[in-house]
Amino acid sequence: MHGLSLMKDEIELAACLSPDVRNDILMTLIENNSTDCQWSSIDIPEWLSAAPAKNYFDSFALDSLKNVMKSGPPTRILEDGVSNLGTCKAEKDFFAIDDDSNVSSNCSELDGSSVGSKPFSSDEEVKDKFEEYNNELPTLCLICRRPCETLCPQCEAAYICLQTYECYTNGWSHQCLCRTWKQYALRRDSLSSFSFEGWHQNLVSRPFQKSEKPYAEFLRNIGVYRKGWWSTETKGWAGGLGGSARSVDISLRRSYKEGFVLDESLYPKPDYVEEEKSNSSFSVDRDDRGLIELDSWEDYYRLRSIPLTSPVALLLTFPLTIYYSIQRFGEVPLTVANILNRKLRIHVVGIEKELNFLDLFAEIGYLLPRHLPVELCLICREDMVPPKCTNLCEGDMLDIQLTENLTLKVFTGRYNESLDPNFDIGSGPPDMIIGCNAGLFAYKSWASVIDYLGCNSGVVGVFSDYNEHSGTNCASLGGRVARNSLVVNPFRQPRAMPVQCMNLPQMSNCFLYVYNMQEVDV
Ligand SMILES: [Zn+2]
Ligand SMILES: [Zn+2]
Repeated sequence: MHGLSLMKDEIELAACLSPDVRNDILMTLIENNSTDCQWSSIDIPEWLSAAPAKNYFDSFALDSLKNVMKSGPPTRILEDGVSNLGTCKAEKDFFAIDDDSNVSSNCSELDGSSVGSKPFSSDEEVKDKFEEYNNELPTLCLICRRPCETLCPQCEAAYICLQTYECYTNGWSHQCLCRTWKQYALRRDSLSSFSFEGWHQNLVSRPFQKSEKPYAEFLRNIGVYRKGWWSTETKGWAGGLGGSARSVDISLRRSYKEGFVLDESLYPKPDYVEEEKSNSSFSVDRDDRGLIELDSWEDYYRLRSIPLTSPVALLLTFPLTIYYSIQRFGEVPLTVANILNRKLRIHVVGIEKELNFLDLFAEIGYLLPRHLPVELCLICREDMVPPKCTNLCEGDMLDIQLTENLTLKVFTGRYNESLDPNFDIGSGPPDMIIGCNAGLFAYKSWASVIDYLGCNSGVVGVFSDYNEHSGTNCASLGGRVARNSLVVNPFRQPRAMPVQCMNLPQMSNCFLYVYNMQEVDV
């Protein structure tokens, strides 16, 4: 790849494709732009050209389909050199995609030394410029990746160039999916329906799906923008060096008051759910294992005496998704841990922004029965560790007793590499593995998790995904039963998420699917 000249906008487009590298590249581009650097002098590392292969949303699916149908990629993509979209290594099995462990080391190549400017300077001006740019990223054509505002007229779920009609007619790969996507898009209304009062209707509207700007504006209006646990809600997350990750410091402990930054009437009391509510209008239903059955945000808000005018569901989607996974899919693991008289061991894998709100996971402890001990191990890939946390980056980073019944540990590394291939990180292998917004197709590092679940049918794996397209694809990796397990998560984030080349209903933790689903024999 050395010596290859690419134009600035071509690099920018390529950089839009990979969640691993997107923000890092854009940041570097902006800095270079301000110092009049010659674009043509940049050596493009191979990992950047292979970046599209890491974005399963389309390139992997397209390449897989291409293999099945024994047909070549759209020629336009090959001609214009925007990316290697059609010829990337995803032609092979995606697990064979060249080593995304190179991403971290190669990032340092691009973060300054090779282009002669300082990376990610703390200069506020540059940050603001970046943020402005990030907010304004255009929607892109699903086929050619050029800026494009027109939707496929059939499904209205994909951005496709219609002016030239070339992408529409050559894009057989979207035509294969078009009818299915149309079905997915029809579920927008039901996915966007919540019983909150007065704030969520805007957040699920189309402008929120097109850009991050209105969400930043919303957070500003409620006085929480870039504050407390809200600071990772905007500016993206693209690995340890990118976006909002740079401000994350896991040694910083926050109370509910400091984290939520809202009036105290708007967030839950940091305490256990009372067995008997004095206000008898709401009775607490517990199942045989003592778990409170929660099936909607409305249930949860009532249980925790939060008014429906409160926006805290936006943050609580993470702990509540984990709680719901235990409640709905954890019956066997809970029973086993109980019989063996030990803690329920849960590994939460592929964590990113969760590092910013570790203390928020106390909510899981407050909801679970007080007598039920749980160990929650958060596993973060080395290259996703925020820079302020790297001094803690030796294996076992943190061990906190969040509540009486909930221990939280943070580890860095990957199973099979720096971590035990048997997934034992000190207290024994997990009973459950949970991945929030996992995107199993997106990162090679998921391969060891999928293999492990394949070999250990006693371990339940629960994953959430942003939209139904990726949810279905990723669930299918686990076979027919896993594919059929796909359900809507009642604790999805009540906000439409921006996504550049799709107009599918898309929310954080929107869908759930299960590997190794288990039921207790009656
Ligand atoms: Zn196009
Ligand atoms: Zn379509």
